Order: sequence, then structure tokens, then C-alpha cells
Amino acid sequence: MWKIDKVKELGRRRRQKVIRRPQKKIPDVYPCPECGNTAIKIELYKDNKVALVKCGSCGLETLIDEVTPLTEAVDVYGTFIDRYYEERRLTTT
Ligand SMILES: [Zn+2]
Repeated sequence: MWKIDKVKELGRRRRQKVIRRPQKKIPDVYPCPECGNTAIKIELYKDNKVALVKCGSCGLETLIDEVTPLTEAVDVYGTFIDRYYEERRLTTT
């Protein structure tokens, strides 16, 4: 119910319409290939050139060691997904 009220309120205040982009609270979570929940968190440790990929839902955890100063979380996620399916392919055949 409060959501509807909020929308009405925002609609009324046209002059104060500001498109805000939350810079601090970017949800850094990604879909988990194991459990299907969007609960993958990526922690970058650029000093150690590693990144930890961890699912907050099923506990799947992978250490990615291909981290450069230019690596971003989304890159790590891509690597993680590649590895995940690579491993799966190797173990199921
Ligand atoms: Zn999971």
C-alpha cells in the first residue's frame, strides 16, 4: 500500500522531479547458475589479483585469479560463469 501512496506523492511534485542514480547502492549481485537466485556477490581484491565469487543463497564459492587493475565485477562474473560451465561440462561427460 505504501508504494502506491509514494507514487502518487511523487506524481504530484512535478517540479521536484529529480532523476537520482544511486551511486553508492549499486546492487552488486548476479544470478547464480547453481541455485538460480540473484545472490552472487563479487569481492574484488585487486591487490592480491584475485576475486571471490560467492552465492549468498546456496553458498557456491569460486576464487577467480585472473584479476587485473582493469577488471570489474562484471568481468569476474563472466569468468566465473565460463568456469562454472566448463567444470560442469568436464564432470558430466
Ligand atoms: Zn547459488
